[in-house]
Amino acid sequence: MKLFKAGAAAAVAVVLSLTATACGGGSGSAGDGGTAGGGKDKIVIGIKFDQPGLGLKTPDGKFTGFDVDVATYVAKELGYQPDQIEFKQAVSAERENLISNGDVKLVVATYTINDKRKAKVDFAGPYFLAHQDLLVRADDTSITKAEDLNKKNLCSVTGSTSAQNVKTKLAPDANLLEQGGYSECLTGLENKTVDALTTDNSILAGFAAQEKNKGKFKLVGLKLSDEPYGIGLKKGDKELQTKVNAALKKMVEDGSWQKAVDANLGPAGYKAEPAPQITEGS
Ligand code: GLU
Repeated sequence: MKLFKAGAAAAVAVVLSLTATACGGGSGSAGDGGTAGGGKDKIVIGIKFDQPGLGLKTPDGKFTGFDVDVATYVAKELGYQPDQIEFKQAVSAERENLISNGDVKLVVATYTINDKRKAKVDFAGPYFLAHQDLLVRADDTSITKAEDLNKKNLCSVTGSTSAQNVKTKLAPDANLLEQGGYSECLTGLENKTVDALTTDNSILAGFAAQEKNKGKFKLVGLKLSDEPYGIGLKKGDKELQTKVNAALKKMVEDGSWQKAVDANLGPAGYKAEPAPQITEGS
């Protein structure tokens, strides 16, 4: 009986300590997208879940893409192993909120650095340079430049730079449909409710190359903007910004950056620009 009691007590102790660990490492219980204090249980990172080649959650629950590799490398430099990373979906319009609320520590999600966003968050980087382009159905010959979009049904994503560029300068008379994510736009393009999808060429190339989309779509091949991707982090966190910048620099210098580009964007035939100079925080 005594033995049994001791065993039960030990079991309770184990359960309690497990619970404590779970709480401590919970989804940023300290409101900073990670664990406060000295513990380094977990880091929460916002990525895209529906962008092949960049940030994709596969049906078996794995995460793949260039942004995932960048996030994993940076996390390691910050002291977190891959199994200590929790990836959280960060749709375009929610990225600033996720960071300011402390739901995530970092956002690595095709996140263009710009002044409007810098009013709310800080960035490290840039670590990649993309350009806005258009995706149309493979047999379309009516859209070859941005102005051709006027009066056409165009899809982009709420809170993205591409949607903003269309409205303010590229094609103000386009009939712009804004969706929550790019995969929704792709469905519209396929079933002809929209005539074109606009966002970064890196994202469009990934969609066009997907097995299920082969032969259905084509990139128009325009460079309608510069989209330097940064890693979003809490405004004013200079220490984190410096560490993330150092990690990005190391990733380029040791060849891991090029490897990640080739592995994730190569299969789509995407010709990536060289790694950009880091400008944030200096
Ligand atoms: N890079 C652009 C942006 O940050 C478009 C891609 C996206 O929505 O993630 O808005």
